[in-house]
Amino acid sequence: MPLALAAALLLTAATPAPDAVSEVAPGVFVHLGQVAEAARDNAGDTSNWAFVVGERCVAVIDAGGSEATGRALAAAVRARTALPVCALVITHGHPDHLLGLPALAAALAPQRQIAAERLPAAVAARRGTYQALAQRQLELAAPPVIAVPGETVNGEAAIDLGGRRLVLRAWKTAHTDHDLTVFDEASRTLFAGDLLFVGHLPVLDGSLGGWLAQAPALRALGAARTVPGHGPVSSAAGWDAQTAYLAGLRDAVRAALGRHQTLQQAVAGIDAPAGWAMTELYHRRNVTAAYSELEWED
Ligand SMILES: [Zn+2]
Repeated sequence: MPLALAAALLLTAATPAPDAVSEVAPGVFVHLGQVAEAARDNAGDTSNWAFVVGERCVAVIDAGGSEATGRALAAAVRARTALPVCALVITHGHPDHLLGLPALAAALAPQRQIAAERLPAAVAARRGTYQALAQRQLELAAPPVIAVPGETVNGEAAIDLGGRRLVLRAWKTAHTDHDLTVFDEASRTLFAGDLLFVGHLPVLDGSLGGWLAQAPALRALGAARTVPGHGPVSSAAGWDAQTAYLAGLRDAVRAALGRHQTLQQAVAGIDAPAGWAMTELYHRRNVTAAYSELEWED
């Protein structure tokens, strides 16, 4: 067997298909993206997405990080149900959750596209950066089209899928300034977006204080299972591990500030804790973001 073919077969064996889903509860289908940075090899399949099937229609949650993920997601929905898609919900505007939207919307024609109120502005502010980043990482010929949902939520809203209600909730600034969760009342499944990371180091792009302050309320929703934005479906233990990291980050940065360390000294001196993937890429960024936020604390 030629080596290249052997390598390709190995890769196929190790990597789940881009449209692979598992039914984690009746009518609740989840695709786990790879815990990796977006690249041509993974075609931007680096975040989780899901869909929930009611008696009348389907809701899709997040769109993946590329045109390819949007198409795979649409195929996965159509392999399971012919019901119309009444809603596409985007948990937040990071490109790994958003860039599949145009392909997905073209294939499934969702009746509504919904996100938190501040998402359109947040994406508009970084549109060029996100396009350049995706073009480079995915090795695309042209920058990807970025579209955002036209309908927004501030506070809570409900979607009726027919015999099944989803509760959407917009949160105060935490992972980002526009995080939205989806709670399926029938299965008590919480789709947390990037308000929860499991195994993949949490990434701070909003407010460390806000994230820690709202973690108890997220945990107290009493979900039977939580689908994180990255990593496997989790129990309450996922929240505890994440809170331990975020609280440890806060305490270490506060201690560095207490010793009048510069940002550079804090970044160099605060090590990433063991047990998380993607620390080389994100831990220093998290220390930097936390330092900037806590510097002005009383
Ligand atoms: Zn994110």
